[in-house]
Amino acid sequence: MALTHNLGFPRIGRDRELKKALEAYWKGDIDQAALLEVGRRLRAEHWHLQQQAGIELLPVGDFAWYDQVLTHSLTFGVIPERFQRHAGTPDLDTLFGMARGVSQSGCCGGAHAEEMTKWFDTNYHYLVPEFSADQQFALNWEQLFDEVTEAQALGYRVKPVLIGPLSYLWLGKEKGSPFNRLALLERLLPVYGEILQRLAEQNVEWVQIDEPILSLDLPQDWKNAFERAYNLLQKEPCKKLVASYFAGLEENLGLAAGLPVDGLHIDLVRAPEQFPAILDRLPAYKVLSLGLVNGRNVWRTDLQQALTVLQQAEERLGPRLWLAPSCSLLHCPVDLQREDQLDDELKSWLAFAVQKCEEVALLARALRQPECPEVQSALAQNRALQASRAASPRIHKPQVQARLAAITPADSRRQSPFAMRSAQQRARLDLPPLPTTTIGSFPQTPAIRLARQAFKAGRISAAEYTEAMHSEIRHAVAVQEQLGLDVLVHGEAERNDMVEYFAEQLDGYAFTRYGWVQSYGSRCVKPAIIYGDLSRPQPMTLDWIRFAQSCTDKPMKGMLTGPVTMLMWSFSRDDIPREQQARQLALAIRDEVVDLEAAGIGIIQIDEAAFREGLPLRRAGWQAYLDWATEAFRLTASGVRDETQIHTHMCYSEFNDVIESIAAMDADVITIETSRSDMELLQAFERFDYPNEIGPGVYDIHSPRVPAVEDMLRLLRKAAERIAPERLWVNPDCGLKTRGWEETRAALGNMLEATRQLRGEL
Ligand code: GLN
Ligand code: ZN
Repeated sequence: MALTHNLGFPRIGRDRELKKALEAYWKGDIDQAALLEVGRRLRAEHWHLQQQAGIELLPVGDFAWYDQVLTHSLTFGVIPERFQRHAGTPDLDTLFGMARGVSQSGCCGGAHAEEMTKWFDTNYHYLVPEFSADQQFALNWEQLFDEVTEAQALGYRVKPVLIGPLSYLWLGKEKGSPFNRLALLERLLPVYGEILQRLAEQNVEWVQIDEPILSLDLPQDWKNAFERAYNLLQKEPCKKLVASYFAGLEENLGLAAGLPVDGLHIDLVRAPEQFPAILDRLPAYKVLSLGLVNGRNVWRTDLQQALTVLQQAEERLGPRLWLAPSCSLLHCPVDLQREDQLDDELKSWLAFAVQKCEEVALLARALRQPECPEVQSALAQNRALQASRAASPRIHKPQVQARLAAITPADSRRQSPFAMRSAQQRARLDLPPLPTTTIGSFPQTPAIRLARQAFKAGRISAAEYTEAMHSEIRHAVAVQEQLGLDVLVHGEAERNDMVEYFAEQLDGYAFTRYGWVQSYGSRCVKPAIIYGDLSRPQPMTLDWIRFAQSCTDKPMKGMLTGPVTMLMWSFSRDDIPREQQARQLALAIRDEVVDLEAAGIGIIQIDEAAFREGLPLRRAGWQAYLDWATEAFRLTASGVRDETQIHTHMCYSEFNDVIESIAAMDADVITIETSRSDMELLQAFERFDYPNEIGPGVYDIHSPRVPAVEDMLRLLRKAAERIAPERLWVNPDCGLKTRGWEETRAALGNMLEATRQLRGEL
């Protein structure tokens, strides 16, 4: 009998209860007891929901007050010294301090937060553990054991979830004198042993040990360490299920299958080819858990297809077959039932976390009781909705497909090479050396947000809303003119979000009301859903940019979000490849680019903030991705004449290994985030002899601190050593929407002063 289990459930709550409680606690509006109570209620509710859905073995340890990796750091006592000024055991405030930093005015004199980075190829961010060469580990935190007790008291059969020792070390970073963090493994393992013993005392039978790094290209010493680590853990109590996800095991398959543990979970959504190969490699005593329901997306599973795999697996495995979503459900919204504004048809195609648990359960029932009429009717219903999706004219649009089919290589090429374009652009734009600009957004003030809310709620008319935005644009333009910037922007006041704003105006996108997914801590995002072929019924930004240009004689930059970023920050379709969706987006945005040019806009920026994060986890997939991503950008950008200058912008990026593709994008100007890396990022461009123009960010917009003229001048001089000054622009690291006006004016004023000084030195 296949057992159903879950790898993890979203912790944020269907109404984002955790977010609200955390923020209230941080503000001092509720006390710790109240916060703890919200957590307890959410866990109870989530276990209940999963059990009701038909999950037999429930995860514990997937709840976290901020981030699951951070919870592990506290559990193991991996607490950087700057958070240890108070003697005694760490508490919830230690955890929040590590996550959010401790302000200067706080009791400890201030400590900066731990670094945050993306969890594999998801949009979830974890807190990077900081290891020192003499790092000690000690069991320091009772949360997991308390939560096991809590679940058991409620009568649930649970399976604690741990991040495995190798993945935990891999995800961290060495601090201080250089050393290899893998050397810490021997010191770390005893803590795992202790945890397993404690769990065994709590009568836990199974423990899930997540080792997602098994889906990466691992260096040999890390591979070797797997065997060593699990040989040592073998003697510890509890049955162990090692979980891999997000990609195939590939060359680590033999290694993973052979580990001396009791079970293995594999992701058959991302890597279906692992089945049936895995069956021949798996020792006869081991449980195999198949992840057949996509934990990373919002679509209903093709149950028939999943069932075919399962039946085959059951024949071989019998009771050693387990069934689960492909990965933790942390990455999907909580409950589709909550959505009251989606039409029935669209809704019938979707599944959120609760529905995904139901699908897992239904698949198990279909194995156990294939003849059961309820099962039969559920399967028939699923077949019907798959068929309706496959044939729906809402999804499949001949016009879009015809346009896609008609794309020729020339469509992705500017008319002339950069050198010729550049001469024409210089003649037309007549910019000073080291032209100054910004990345697009200006402060999103409460007044702007209130106006948008009022408009959406129907409390103000379209005309009133437009006027409110026009006055914001006038203000932004006036400030930029006063400061003396060379290339102006309209400030993006009308945009709630750089993806959603465009998605709302494209055909083929749907929106949820409650489809929140945790991004980090209390921050959630509500990704739009691409459900059908994408097209642009009418211009999306034209009126705003035209208005902005009418307010000034200086060049006004048109501001768009690129196809790759639109795709990466949305839930995408699972019925056609990502690259096709990127191409559809490219054509839609290309139309906007052409319209802006026709309206006399001479500079158009196409933001690709997410370009690098689309890279597949394994190197083998990189080139194919880079090829289509680059091509999508070029398709977007190449509908214009030579004299029209195309900018792109990327942030949080590391360019060394993708510089060739960045160059192949052939944007006339690229602006990047560099200030925090002290211009080191430019090395990649220098080494590659990157031919086009570059605007390395000269100050960090994530902080309210106003950078000094000298700081920026120093950075600019460094940049000018690496990049010929004729090709250098001056701008901040990213958009200014999270800043206030006062600091923005001051910072940009200093940036312009630094530019004037450097111009004097040229
Ligand atoms: N144009 C956008 C802005 O300025 C870019 C944001 C981003 O790169 N994340 O807000
Ligand atoms: Zn940016």
